[in-house]
Amino acid sequence: MIVASFEPTPAVWRHELRHVAQYERLGLSFLPLYLWYRVRYGYFEHPLERDASEDPRLFS
Ligand SMILES: [Zn+2]
Repeated sequence: MIVASFEPTPAVWRHELRHVAQYERLGLSFLPLYLWYRVRYGYFEHPLERDASEDPRLFS
């Protein structure tokens, strides 16, 4: 998640909304899964971050 001190761009909104969709799909496992991926992959290779970006998605 991003705490923005600037006006979010449409791309930023799409990114954050995609995290919301991920949360709705994954439920309570979202946070531990996110943190595990963060440790395992770092930010830029993070599967949920790549999924939230314009990259190919894990699920629709
Ligand atoms: Zn993100």
